[in-house]
Amino acid sequence: MRIAVLALQGAFIEHERMLASLGADVFELRQEKDLHRPFDGLVLPGGESTVQGKLLRETGMFEPLRSKIEAGLPVFGTCAGLLLLAKRIENDDRTHFAVMDVAAVRNAYGRQLGSFAAETEFAGVGRVPAIFIRAPYIGEVFGQSQALALVDNRIVAAQQGNMLVTAFHPELSGDPSVHRYFLETLVAPSQ
Ligand code: GLN
Repeated sequence: MRIAVLALQGAFIEHERMLASLGADVFELRQEKDLHRPFDGLVLPGGESTVQGKLLRETGMFEPLRSKIEAGLPVFGTCAGLLLLAKRIENDDRTHFAVMDVAAVRNAYGRQLGSFAAETEFAGVGRVPAIFIRAPYIGEVFGQSQALALVDNRIVAAQQGNMLVTAFHPELSGDPSVHRYFLETLVAPSQ
C-alpha cells in the first residue's frame, strides 16, 4: 500500500520511517503535482498547524486533499494534523480541512507541561506510549466521531470512519502499534 506523508513542515521524517518499517511504500507531498501519484492513505504530521494550513493553501494542495478526505481517503493526523482535521478549534477562530467531528483545544497543556510523556490504553490496540509536544487535546467528540484514548481524563485520540487522530506523537515513541492500526484497520479494508 502506498502512503503519502504531508512534508511541508514538522515531524514528517519520523512518520516515514515508521510506515516504511511496517512495509508501506511511502512518498512525500510537497507540491501539487505530487498529488498526481495514486495513494491509499495520507499522514498529516505534527508541527505548527497554522503554518501547515497556510502552506497547504499556497501550494494548491488544500482543496484536492480536502476532497479526497471527504471522499473517504484514509487519513491519520497527529498533533497539528489533528488540528488540520478538526471541525472546531475552541481557542482559534481559524479551522483548516474541518472535516472531523471533534472540537480541539490548541496548546492545551500550557507552558509548564508543554511537553511530557505518558502511557494510554488505546481502544483496539492496547497500551501505547504517548509523547506530547505543545499538544492539543480533544475537548469534545460529537456526531460520528469516537474517542479511542484518554490521558488524565482528556481525549487524546479519536476516529471517525476513514479519519484517525492523536494529540500525541506515536511516530516519536518507537512503538509502531498505532501506525499498524491505521494501516490494518483504515487503509487495508478500503483497498
Ligand atoms: N501547537 C501546535 C499547533 O498548534 C501543535 C504541536 C505539535 O504538532 N507538536 O499547531
